[in-house]
Amino acid sequence: MGISSLDKTSELYQLSKAGKLCVPAMNVNDSVTKQKFDNLYCCRESILDGLKRTTDVMFGGKQVVVCGYGEVGKGCCAALKALGAIVYITEIDPICALQACMDGFRVVKLNEVIRQVDVVITCTGNKNVVTREHLDRMKNSCIVCNMGHSNTEIDVTSLRTPELTWERVRSQVDHVIWPDGKRVVLLAEGRLLNLSCSTVPTFVLSITATTQALALIELYNAPEGRYKQDVYLLPKKMDEYVASLHLPSFDAHLTELTDDQAKYLGLNKNGPFKPNYYR
Ligand code: NAD
Repeated sequence: MGISSLDKTSELYQLSKAGKLCVPAMNVNDSVTKQKFDNLYCCRESILDGLKRTTDVMFGGKQVVVCGYGEVGKGCCAALKALGAIVYITEIDPICALQACMDGFRVVKLNEVIRQVDVVITCTGNKNVVTREHLDRMKNSCIVCNMGHSNTEIDVTSLRTPELTWERVRSQVDHVIWPDGKRVVLLAEGRLLNLSCSTVPTFVLSITATTQALALIELYNAPEGRYKQDVYLLPKKMDEYVASLHLPSFDAHLTELTDDQAKYLGLNKNGPFKPNYYR
């Protein structure tokens, strides 16, 4: 079984912990190559595409708050910064918060900036990160969207109350209108912006599909007893193989270790080149 979404992956670990897993499973979601492409690089490209297609917003000088500075958040922030947006980050994890500081972003609590920002983007994998209280305090025309977990990050249900009017202005774009006339621009009803409103490059799909296929091949070919009824990570060597299969499309030329260098680093010349925990 090869598994590649965050919710399915945590479900697998829960099943395994409860002793209810009846086959070995490969956690493809946490393979480094898959995660970098699906989460970091794909979102770096598709955040702008999704926002442009739905709102035609100009990013230069816009104030944007990105909730969560994990792989998805890092991708979104890099793209927004490159277009001259002023980006704020919210984080719960001090390490990711410190990374955001080192990358030149202001780390704030959502409450501190919610009145002034033009765009709010959630990328946490968590629930109710943007609450009705936040939505009440947003300024007119603030754009709200989710790049993280299915539809849990923005409390959209709290907006379905009689005093608020919903106006569908175009596909995947709703204006939610407060009694005083304030409008909040809600994209894809709080579902994943890029999956709902932009396209996913075939290159990214190729990386994910290759990882899944190799995981299945590994499980199928493994000698009896290597994998028990538990959740495993794809062996590092295969993760590296997924990346190496995609290098020719960039005409990238990999340096080979000399025997002497391989011995010095204590590595096999053919990999794996990094320990399993390396991300
Ligand atoms: P990640 O764990 O690397 O990052 C999530 C970050 O959010 C973490 O650093 C965490 O500390 C932080 N966080 C959690 N709760 C928070 C809160 N209440 N406020 C602020 N920060 C908070 O995960 P990731 O790889 O970045 O993925 C994030 C989500 O995006 C997941 O649900 C994942 O399934 C989804 N995802 C979306 C796409 C897409 O195409 N849109 C692609 C891959 C993954």
